[in-house]
Amino acid sequence: MRQITKELIQKYDIRLTKSLGQNFLVDDNIIDKIVNMADIDKNDIVIEVGPGIGNMTRRLAAKAGRLIAVEIDKHLIPPLEEVLKEFPNSSLINKDILKTSLEEVIREEKEKAPETEHVKIVANLPYYITTPIIMKFLEENPGIDTMVFMIQKEVAERIVASPGGKDYGALSVAVQYYSKPERLFDVSPHCFVPKPEVDSTVIRMKVFKEPAVKLINKDMFFTTVKASFGQRRKTLLNALSNSNKFAKSKEEIRQILIDLGIDENARGETLTINQFAQISNRFAQPTQ
Ligand code: SAM
Repeated sequence: MRQITKELIQKYDIRLTKSLGQNFLVDDNIIDKIVNMADIDKNDIVIEVGPGIGNMTRRLAAKAGRLIAVEIDKHLIPPLEEVLKEFPNSSLINKDILKTSLEEVIREEKEKAPETEHVKIVANLPYYITTPIIMKFLEENPGIDTMVFMIQKEVAERIVASPGGKDYGALSVAVQYYSKPERLFDVSPHCFVPKPEVDSTVIRMKVFKEPAVKLINKDMFFTTVKASFGQRRKTLLNALSNSNKFAKSKEEIRQILIDLGIDENARGETLTINQFAQISNRFAQPTQ
C-alpha cells in the first residue's frame, strides 16, 4: 500500500492537509486486521468516514453489500473515483461527515440494496474531530450495530475506562450509555504516511438496541454527568450542589444521595452509569 499511496499522491498531485488529519494508513496487515474486526459480509451497509486515498476503502467495498465513503477533501475525490470504479456497490460522498444526514444516506442505500440487514461504520478517523464524529453516530444512530475506529490512543483509553480509573470521565459514560466499547490493538505511527505525532488504537463498539440505562430525561442525565466530572476535586455533593442546573437545594441533593445509598463524599469518577442514571432520574422528578 505504501507504494500505491505514493503513486496516487504523485499522479493526482495531492498536497496533504495536516489540519484535516490526513495521515494515510499504509500497512496492509493493519488494514486487513481493522477490516476483519468489523466482520463484514454482503448483508452489510458499511460507511467509511474519511477514505483518504482509498487504502481501506477498496477492502471494505470488496466485502460489503454497499460501501459509502464520506470524504470532505475534494482533492481526494479523483483518486477515490479511480479506486472505486471497479466497485459498483460503492457510493462516494464529498461532504463533511458532521453535516451529513446518516438517516438519509442509509435510506438511499437500503433502496439500492434492500437485502442488506446491518449497518457498520469503519474508519481511521481524523483525530481532530474524533469525539464529535463518534457522538454523532451514537446519537443519530440510524440502526448501526457495529463501529470499528482507529483513534488516538489516549481517547481510546478514556472511551473504554471503568469507574474509579483516572481515564474514566464524561466521554466514557456517554459512549458506554449507547454501546459496549472494546479496545482491540495499538498501531504504531510507522504504519502511516505521513507519521502522526501520536500513538493510535483500534476500538470496536457494539451499539446497544436500547441504551444501557433507563432515563426519565436524557438531558438531565448528561447534565448530571457533566456536573459530577466538571469539578473532579470536589466531592459529589459539592459538585452537584454547586451547579445551578438541578433546581434542588444542597439538603435535597444530600437526601437523594442518602436514599440511593451513594456516599456524598465520593467523587464523580467512582460512580457507575447506573448510579448516574438513578441520581438524574431523581433530579428529573419534581420536588415533593
Ligand atoms: N482512511 C484513510 C486511511 O486510512 O488511510 C485516511 C484516514 S485520515 C486519518 C482521515 C481522513 O478523514 C482524511 O482523508 C481526511 O481528509 C478525512 N476527513 C477529515 N475531516 C473530515 C470530515 N469532517 N468529514 C469527512 N472526512 C473528513
